[in-house]
Amino acid sequence: MEKLLSGKVCVLTGGAGSIGLSTAQLFLAEGARVTLVDLDEKRLADAVAELDSPDVVGAVADVSDARDVEACFRETVGRWGKVDVIFSNAGNFGVIAPIVDYPESAFDQLYATHVKGAMLTCKYGVPVMNDGGSIIITSSVAGLRGDPGVYAYITVKHAQVGFMRALAKELAPRRIRVNTLHPGPVDNGFQKRIEEELGASIGADGTEFFNQMIPLGRHARPDEIAFSVLYLASDMSCFTTGSQLVVDGGMSA
Ligand code: NAD
Repeated sequence: MEKLLSGKVCVLTGGAGSIGLSTAQLFLAEGARVTLVDLDEKRLADAVAELDSPDVVGAVADVSDARDVEACFRETVGRWGKVDVIFSNAGNFGVIAPIVDYPESAFDQLYATHVKGAMLTCKYGVPVMNDGGSIIITSSVAGLRGDPGVYAYITVKHAQVGFMRALAKELAPRRIRVNTLHPGPVDNGFQKRIEEELGASIGADGTEFFNQMIPLGRHARPDEIAFSVLYLASDMSCFTTGSQLVVDGGMSA
């Protein structure tokens, strides 16, 4: 049987992180060629070394910087030709605080990474994409519900959905599909940091606090998120665009 991403050129932002790296592993196993994009140079070098494949290359870039993003796509096209899949996944969490104390700088910073970052990734990626490609933007369960204090993260994760909907309509004539992915809490360092902060503020176990909100009763493994990215990236989802794929163990139900 042919592999799901045979010969496909894929650009993954936040590629050195937990979900990005797990997705890269799966994409490579399915025959893809992968550019891993990340701001963190050391983490990126470690990720590329771990993947240990001639079909992966790292690119240090800040997704909120137009020149960086444009360079990533230029280099990818120079190496492998046009792009088939964009996984816009770079992200950070910011802070939890009441609205009157919420730092303006955190709001601006998260907007730059998640919203402007997704916009620039598509602005420079779309012109070099093959027709029939797929764009997946990692939103979150936080893009489906609200929780007090999480102002920047919840706002930007909702904003990505609006961006996705508009872009899905623009790109439909080229059969380029655009969807958001909505993971719930993942068992990784990103979520652990949130739970430590939350646990300290509520005086209870932050991980348990989330598990009790998840009908399936546990966090996702990064590879469980990667399987959903693969579905959206591959032709298995060829009639799915403008949609939100929820992978949260039922948390938002
Ligand atoms: P992670 O911290 O392991 O990975 C995120 C990566 O993004 C990091 O390697 C970081 O260096 C990179 N990054 C941050 N800002 C960047 C920028 N401006 N330019 C380029 N790279 C940048 O976390 P993760 O869990 O793998 O998160 C991936 C995505 O999934 C994020 O968008 C996050 O919001 C989302 N998400 C995570 C969870 C979770 O529980 N971990 C749940 C829902 C959604």
